[in-house]
Amino acid sequence: MSDLFEPAPIVRLPVEGGQTFPVHRIFCIGQNYAEHIKEMGGTDTSVEPVIFMKPPSALTLGPDVPYPPVTTDLHHEVELVAALGSQGVMASGVGIDLTRRDLQGIAKKRGGPWEIGKAFEAAAVMGELKLGIPPETGAIRLSVNGQARQVGDLSQMNRNLTELLALLGKYFTLGAGDLVFTGTPSGVGPLLPGDRVSAEIELLPALTFQLTDRKA
Ligand code: MN
Repeated sequence: MSDLFEPAPIVRLPVEGGQTFPVHRIFCIGQNYAEHIKEMGGTDTSVEPVIFMKPPSALTLGPDVPYPPVTTDLHHEVELVAALGSQGVMASGVGIDLTRRDLQGIAKKRGGPWEIGKAFEAAAVMGELKLGIPPETGAIRLSVNGQARQVGDLSQMNRNLTELLALLGKYFTLGAGDLVFTGTPSGVGPLLPGDRVSAEIELLPALTFQLTDRKA
């Protein structure tokens, strides 16, 4: 039997040194840094993290990222991203969980799923992955047009990567090709078309991209 159409290609991320990481699923953790929980209006700063997903089609490497449609409040969230192989975590990188905050807010109010705010095309901007055990401490930063917006440390995570994988593992069978966005420190805020974004985590390849004009 033959396919009715050409299937979507497997999305691959570059790995420092020249190999590629074929992506299966993207798990995202929300509410994993106390100061970010507070800035979003939360009071229980050690609440069990939220779990949501983005499709692999949401991944982009930049350097140009389209300002997405429908929103007028696109937010940046810089995050450590762990990449799983067949024997567990094998690499990590810097990722941006782009969020249509206005649409996420509507979804939250309705008590519904967050996809319209989180799973759009180019909603997951990734830097190059680095092989090895991900850093557990160290600065995590994001700046917009040269101005610091998010400044934190990986040690501020409410639950560390090991604990997050245990939490995810209760609900899902994790495996090779899965990515885990581990949550964002405080300082999230809006981006505008033309903004230049730089993000870095100590010891990992840095990420820079520019937002292009709003899609018609
Ligand atoms: Mn996030």
